[in-house]
Amino acid sequence: MRKTVLSLLAILLIAAGLIVARPVLFLAGVWWQDGKTPRSMPAAGTDDASRLNATQPAEVIRVAADPAEAEKQLADLVRRAAREGRHIAIAGAQHSMGGHTLYPGGIALDMHPFNRLALDEGKKLLTVGAGARWHEVIPFLDERGYAVSVMQTNNDFSVGGSISVNCHGWQNDMPPICGTVESFRLLTASGEIVRCSRGENQELFSLVLGGYGLFGVILEVELRVVPNDYYEAEAHPVAPRDYVKVYHELTRGHPDAGMAYGRISVAPVSFFQEASVTLLRRTATDKPTKHTLRDEQPSLLKRLVYRGEVGSDYGKNLRWWLEKQMGETAGKVLSRNQVMNEPSNLYATRDPDATDILHEYFIPASRFADFIEKSRPVFLSYRPELLNVTVRNVEPDHDTFLRYAPEEMFGLVLLFHQRRDAAAEATMKVMTRELIDVALACGGRYYLPYRPHATAEQFLRAYPQAPEFFALKRRYDPHGIFENQFYLNYGAPLAAGVEKAP
Ligand SMILES: Cc1cc2nc3c(=O)[nH]c(=O)nc-3n(C[C@H](O)[C@H](O)[C@H](O)COP(=O)(O)OP(=O)(O)OC[C@H]3O[C@@H](n4cnc5c(N)ncnc54)[C@H](O)[C@@H]3O)c2cc1C
Repeated sequence: MRKTVLSLLAILLIAAGLIVARPVLFLAGVWWQDGKTPRSMPAAGTDDASRLNATQPAEVIRVAADPAEAEKQLADLVRRAAREGRHIAIAGAQHSMGGHTLYPGGIALDMHPFNRLALDEGKKLLTVGAGARWHEVIPFLDERGYAVSVMQTNNDFSVGGSISVNCHGWQNDMPPICGTVESFRLLTASGEIVRCSRGENQELFSLVLGGYGLFGVILEVELRVVPNDYYEAEAHPVAPRDYVKVYHELTRGHPDAGMAYGRISVAPVSFFQEASVTLLRRTATDKPTKHTLRDEQPSLLKRLVYRGEVGSDYGKNLRWWLEKQMGETAGKVLSRNQVMNEPSNLYATRDPDATDILHEYFIPASRFADFIEKSRPVFLSYRPELLNVTVRNVEPDHDTFLRYAPEEMFGLVLLFHQRRDAAAEATMKVMTRELIDVALACGGRYYLPYRPHATAEQFLRAYPQAPEFFALKRRYDPHGIFENQFYLNYGAPLAAGVEKAP
């Protein structure tokens, strides 16, 4: 009897060891092969986060940090560009992926030093220089017990770049960032500085929000901020077809729903057939809401689990399994600032021959399940290296001219790993067009900061206000001073009355 029990114990121990050994050995292998140093971003004007847009600018101008000096410098620059027939492409943190910050042979304007911060606590209004990155803004607000109202999920981006694409994130029941912009000052193509808000220069206000740097240089921005609450994460498994219903049940009419996001499985065992909604529920705590960033540590394990997905079905299944067991924050209580203060390069590829590329499709709430069902065969036929799908809700946007959320939308953010060669790019282009067709058939749109793979016809169906947007661009900037690849890809063909070549 004793012998049998001992043998059983030994078998159990060996089995447990084998179960644990496989993921441990797998993750050790990922660590061994992973590059040890994060890649730094290319210099302003020379490329962007895609690393597929190598560009040679004629000159790079770094804006002065002192606001008065910067304003004079920029006004002189705009006058010189007009005189010499040059184009200015404005760079924030360059995380757009379609040359939105680039113009070959043009003037690259690096806005980073323009990053002053001031908070009016009474009005809960932050005044911030457009070059400031969220990782500069978050600690400043955290010191004072406040947090950003709407931003992306990572902290790398500039304020100017964020409002120029009209970003959004895990903040549920909110329109994109435009809804939190009280006003901004803009240096226009005529060299004057104007204030834009819902009450002053309203047309320009709506064009610059989501205007991709085509109407002038955004200087300071007034942003509404919110208290730095604490959240407890709870993950709810859900079938993708029920995603919207469950999301609404968890968040609508629940004032304690602080932030929320979802994931769709990219694991081969349950590809697009399982999902989860994570609710960050406000929680009462005695902890002070100031200085909450002190113990933030980047996690190596998170990176390895994420990067282990590349080229490995096992890695993809492992990540989904781990996420289902533990959720991402493993039941920890985190402040809003801690949740939003994560750099994207924690997860980014370190392989010089590859890149990570994002797509995002905005789908009306009523057609979400349809999009999941119709897009699944596209992925199964192309078998791309799809590493992650996050879902966010975006409430209707009443401020932006070139808007992607005229009604409540659910944004599906897809992260792909791609080789940096012509063949991979060509395949991605064909697949992207198919996915855009699926999104359009579901009454949806695609997000504009990423690769410019859409056809002219797809662009116009997704953004029917584009012809008027670009006509206004030419009225406000008749000499085309503010131009970039976004304009060359989408605006210039419309102006010439020709369709972009497929
Ligand atoms: C890893 C990763 C994660 C992302 N996650 C999200 C997300 O969660 N949600 C989301 O909505 N988006 C997301 N994005 C997209 C991101 O929001 C945009 O690419 C955004 O533009 C990044 O800000 P940036 O400072 O890098 O902008 P840049 O790429 O530098 O610029 C974007 C545009 O803004 C213009 N611009 C920049 N500064 C100014 C200025 N001062 N005045 C006028 N025009 C200006 C530029 O000319 C350009 O056209 C993500 C991108 C990456 C790479």
